[in-house]
Parts: sequence; C-alpha cells; structure tokens
Amino acid sequence: MRKNSWKYSVGLLLIAVIFTLAACGQTKEQEESGKSDTIKVVTTFYPMYDFAKNVVGDAGDVQLLIPAGTEPHDYEPSAKDIAKITDADVFVYNSHELETWVKDVLENVDGKKVAVVEAASSIDLMEGAAHEEEHEDEADHSGHDHELDPHVWLDPVLAQKEVETIRDALVKKYPDKKATFEKNATAYSEKLKALDSEYKEAFANANNKTFVTQHAAFGYLAKQYGLTQESIAGISPDQEPSPSRLAELKKYIKEHNVSVIYFETSASSKVAETLARETDVELAVLNPLESLTKKEQEQGEDYISVMKANLEALKKSIK
Ligand SMILES: [Zn+2]
Repeated sequence: MRKNSWKYSVGLLLIAVIFTLAACGQTKEQEESGKSDTIKVVTTFYPMYDFAKNVVGDAGDVQLLIPAGTEPHDYEPSAKDIAKITDADVFVYNSHELETWVKDVLENVDGKKVAVVEAASSIDLMEGAAHEEEHEDEADHSGHDHELDPHVWLDPVLAQKEVETIRDALVKKYPDKKATFEKNATAYSEKLKALDSEYKEAFANANNKTFVTQHAAFGYLAKQYGLTQESIAGISPDQEPSPSRLAELKKYIKEHNVSVIYFETSASSKVAETLARETDVELAVLNPLESLTKKEQEQGEDYISVMKANLEALKKSIK
C-alpha cells in the first residue's frame, strides 16, 4: 500500500512536470509571436492614449505611460518608463511644451525602431496666458516669459489634427494597415466633429462669454468658440497666484458678474474654493483631461464623454 502510494506520487509529480514544461513552451511561443504581430504603442498622458487607441483599434496594444490620476505638467519618467519607450514600436506624446522630459529621452531612442509622434506638431502653439507680474518675477529665467501653451487637446478641432498626425505616423510605419488606421481615424474624427458642433451651437448666441478657470488650460477652446478665459493660476497648475493677482480676480469677478468659478478635481483647488467663498459665487468642475482616474476609466469615461461634461459645466456661466 505504502509502496503503491509512493509510485502514485512520483507519477503525479511527473505529470505535473510535463504539464509545466508544456505550459512554459506555449507561453514562450505566444510571447514570441506577440512580439512580431502586435504593434506596441506607448503614449504619455490620457488624451494621447485615447486618441491613439481610437486610431489603432484592434491592430495593436496601446499603453498609458503616466499613471491614471497623475498630473503630467511636472512629471518625470522613471528608468522603467524610459525602457517602455525604447521598447515600443510607436511613441506618442503631445508636445515638448508639456512633456518637457521627452527631448532628453529621445536622445536614447532608436528612431529607426520607434516611430516617434509629436501629436501637436502640425499645430501652431500660442503663447500662454502668463500674467504680467509673473513676467517680472521670472525676468531672470530667460525664455520663461515666452512659454507656449500646450493644451491643444481641449479644442475639439485641434484634437482632430492630433488624431490625423497620429494616423499618418502609423500609416507611414505600417503601410499594410493603412486601410484600418484610416477607417478608424475617420470614424473617430466624425465623433470629434459632432462634439465641435455641440460646442459651436451652445455658445453661438451667448451674452456672457467669459469664464474663470483654475489653471489656464482652456485657451485654445476659448479661442475656437470666441470665449474669454480668465485663470487663477498660469499654464501650469502649480503656479500659485500672488495676492495682487487674487485681488485683481476678485475685482474682475464683481465687475463682470461672474457666477461660476471652475476648478479641477485633480489639481489643488484650495485657491478656487477660497475665491468662490470670498466672492460668493458657485464652484463647478471643468476637467482639463490631463489625466483620468482609474475610477473614471472604469466607469467608461473617455475624452468625448468628459468634453461633453465640460460643455454642460461651461453652459452654467456662458449663456
Ligand atoms: Zn495644464
């Protein structure tokens, strides 16, 4: 009996070993075939991920480099992030103005292996809404007062340009998948065009066209629809306003009968909250889509759904 059970155990062990070996072999094979078939696309922050994903569709695997809920303005890549980029087939970022670290990383990226896509490359960036006092403060830092505004993705028309740039780069690298990428890009651009029409219609006959935001992320959107953005902070969310800027804003809010101050859930909203309380105006959320939390993504939120929510929020003050 004891002898038999020993034999039985050895038998089981052998079977287990054989299965394990077989499974290993299979996984390795799958990995290798995956390497040659699946297009690996690495993107920096959320809108780049969403735009690329819509163009790539099922033809590849699109990854988000900057984690959900992390703000891209002062992001620094880890060694692991850099490895992901050098290992990718396609790398998509918005512009050197936002992802300032990309320039250094690209020095170590093989341009023949990785197709590098600056999505905003076909767009003329405008100067950021920096305030005069900030210019004085930063007079020592040469060039900083000419900071360009990177927030092009928040304009549904410029978003289409970014989608086209991503599409063209993918077609160039994978000409055999041209039809797929073009079909996907066209379908997504139709949605962006519909979004643009919604914005146009909503603001065409508005009397008040000014809105107050937390950081100056909506300059392109404002320009596209003939609106005026007044921001508490500058282009970067961590640029805290000076006391004199706050006083100026309070005066502005009173003089222009501003009824809503927009803040972001991801960035520090303390100043917006204080300003709203002191001027007795309503607070509403305007999402600059610099990141989407895990929860938001799980709830099925994406670029278009958030932009629609932004439109509803803007209608509170622009009417
Ligand atoms: Zn921003």
